[in-house]
Amino acid sequence: MNGLDDLKLELEEWKRQGRYRLPAVWESGSGPWMVLNGRKVLQMASNNYLGLTDHPRLKQAAIAAIERYGVGSGSVRTIAGTLDIHEQLELELADFKGTEAALVFQSGFTTNQGVFGTLLQENDVVISDALNHASIIDGIRLTKAARRIYPHKEMNALEDALRGASGYRRRFIVTDGVFSMDGDIAPLPEIVALAERYDAIVCVDDAHASGVLGRCGKGTTDHFSLHGRVHIQIGTLSKAVGVVGGYAAGSQALKEYLIHKARPFLFSTSQTPAVAASCLEAIRVLRESPELGERMWAQADRFRAELQADGFDTGDSETPIIPIVVGDAADTMRFSAQLLEEGVFAPGIVYPTVAADKGRVRLIVTAAHSDEDLAFARAALREVGRAFGLI
Ligand code: PMP
Repeated sequence: MNGLDDLKLELEEWKRQGRYRLPAVWESGSGPWMVLNGRKVLQMASNNYLGLTDHPRLKQAAIAAIERYGVGSGSVRTIAGTLDIHEQLELELADFKGTEAALVFQSGFTTNQGVFGTLLQENDVVISDALNHASIIDGIRLTKAARRIYPHKEMNALEDALRGASGYRRRFIVTDGVFSMDGDIAPLPEIVALAERYDAIVCVDDAHASGVLGRCGKGTTDHFSLHGRVHIQIGTLSKAVGVVGGYAAGSQALKEYLIHKARPFLFSTSQTPAVAASCLEAIRVLRESPELGERMWAQADRFRAELQADGFDTGDSETPIIPIVVGDAADTMRFSAQLLEEGVFAPGIVYPTVAADKGRVRLIVTAAHSDEDLAFARAALREVGRAFGLI
């Protein structure tokens, strides 16, 4: 065996297991109708929850920023790469989230690397929901902190872990706000109450909740009116906000500590001017347009109820993320391929991302989906669902 030839064997094995998949290559902007292999299909997988990727004000802000600053920032933030629009974005985000300060990173993923990789130290313990996102898991793995995983949303197990953690310097509880594969919401009020009882720090990752939950999409903390009781609110600018980037919102001391120590902040070039300016405009649009979120929720709630009435298993979904549980991996991938034949794009999500018997296609409803779009998706799902014996 030479060099990297053994990679091919592993690829072949994944093909046999139905896990081999290369990304779809889109030939148009983010939909809801998008061109794939020369054909228009209905996009039901994008995180563009509010349709902002195509918003005229965001596009105009990006163009104006390119004209004024050029296309790149030229440096990492701490050397020569902090533009006034990065700082304006941080002020706007802190105000939006109701925190003292916010720090912007290049993505949600690097935010979690930066926050957890920096704050968790050897004599700390981090207690994390079993279904937390990979970027949280990887951020934690960068550290020497002790780890405890509690079964998804099981508050008794979280309390047990906290009870056994009094010997550590700091206890961190970490949870997604909205869970990305099931579309359910973290029980944040219970988590905060336990944190207060056991003197723990609460971090919520609002990647799928930013722009989705709370007033004008302010997130899970706002949704549950827990202002001042959540220490770190992480968010992404890549999903409902429509652009790319991430942030950590919390105290000014947290921000300044991360500026000095968070490695993705220190060692990776800052967001481009177009990105920073369009994110800033997006937050303003969110504040001014609560109707976008209201429309997304109305569409999602109605569509979920219709799918359930048709007999589909939508798991624990309570947000615009709506899984349709199919079962085993190969069936799930066939189900997804058949949906695409019918003109609906919803990729299969299978083991190891989800449990082996819980393969699913994950649908995401956005404010940009019209009633006709969702009727089209429903008809396709019914047809394929019947053929697969799911309904
Ligand atoms: N955290 C969670 C909970 C996520 O679902 C995601 C999205 N993939 C991320 C972080 C990463 O965000 P980004 O895509 O901005 O890197």
